Amino acid sequence: MQDFSPLFALLEQSRKTVAFTGAGVSTLSGIPDFRGPHGVFSQRWQDWSVEELHNIEVFEAHPEAFYGYAKNAWYAFDTLPVNIVHQVLAEMEQQGLLAAVYTQNIDMLHQKAGSRRVEELHGTMAAHHCLQCNRSFPYAEIKTLVLQDQVPRCPQCQGLIKPDVVFFGENLDAGMLQRAQRDFSSAELTLVLGSSLTVEPAASLPRLTLQNHGRLVIVNGQPTPLDQQAALSYDDLEVVFKALQTWLDDPGRTAGRPRPAL
Ligand code: NAD
Repeated sequence: MQDFSPLFALLEQSRKTVAFTGAGVSTLSGIPDFRGPHGVFSQRWQDWSVEELHNIEVFEAHPEAFYGYAKNAWYAFDTLPVNIVHQVLAEMEQQGLLAAVYTQNIDMLHQKAGSRRVEELHGTMAAHHCLQCNRSFPYAEIKTLVLQDQVPRCPQCQGLIKPDVVFFGENLDAGMLQRAQRDFSSAELTLVLGSSLTVEPAASLPRLTLQNHGRLVIVNGQPTPLDQQAALSYDDLEVVFKALQTWLDDPGRTAGRPRPAL
C-alpha cells in the first residue's frame, strides 16, 4: 500500500494550492483523452483527423464535419457522471484546501461536481455564440439541433454558431490568462492532474509555481516534461484520489490545527 502522507503534508502546509487539470481527469467519467493510451488525437472521423476537427479554420470551412463528430462526443457530456477526482477537488475547495481549479477541459464536469472557482482555460461547451452577430445560445438548445444532424445557424442572421471552446488556431481569453499567471505564480502548491502538459500556453502555467519557489505534485499516467521538477509524482488518479478522499473524510485530520488564511 502506497504511503501518501508526504502528499497530505504538502496540502496541509500550503497556504495556497491550485489545481491544473487535463483530459485525464475525465477519462474516469468515460470521456477519452487526447494523448493517453486510448486517446483520440490521432484517430480519424470520416475524412478528418480529430486534430483537424479541433482547428478553427477547418471548423469555419466544414462545420458539418465538426458537428457530425461532436454529436456523440461533446454533445453527450451532460449525460456523463462526475468521478472521484472531480468530487474530491470540490470537497478540497470547500474545506479551504484548494483556491481554484484551472482546467483545460471543456466538459463542464468540475462545476457539476460542485467546484465553485473553475477557470476554463480552453473555454466551455456550456455556451455557444453566433460568429456573425454574437448572439448567445445555451448548450441544450444547440444540442437539440446537433442531434437532428443540423449545423446550428443563428435564427436572426443565419451566421454559423460555434461552441465557446478555444479551437487550435484561437487565442485564450486574455483576462483569464492574467488571472492564471497571478494564481500559479503565487501558489505554494500546484497539483497537475491528468495532463500531458503539451498544449501551450496552458501547459506552461505550472512552471510559474516552480519559478516562484512553489512546489508541484503531478498525477499522470504518462511522463510529463515537469516530472523531474515535481516534489511528488504519481501515476494513477483513481488511487491517489481515493486516498485523498479517505484523508479528507477523517474527522481527526484538522483537529487542533487551524488552517492558515489563503
Ligand atoms: P492529454 O490527452 O494530452 O493528456 C491526458 C493525460 O492524462 C495523458 O498523459 C494520460 O496518460 C493521463 N491520464 C488519463 N487517464 C488517467 C488516469 N486515470 N490516471 C492518471 N493519468 C491519466 O490531455 P491534456 O493535457 O488535457 O491536453 C489535451 C487537450 O485536449 C486539452 O486542451 C483539453 O482541452 C482537450 N480535451 C479535453 C477533454 C475534456 O474536456 N474532457 C477531452 C479530450 C481532450
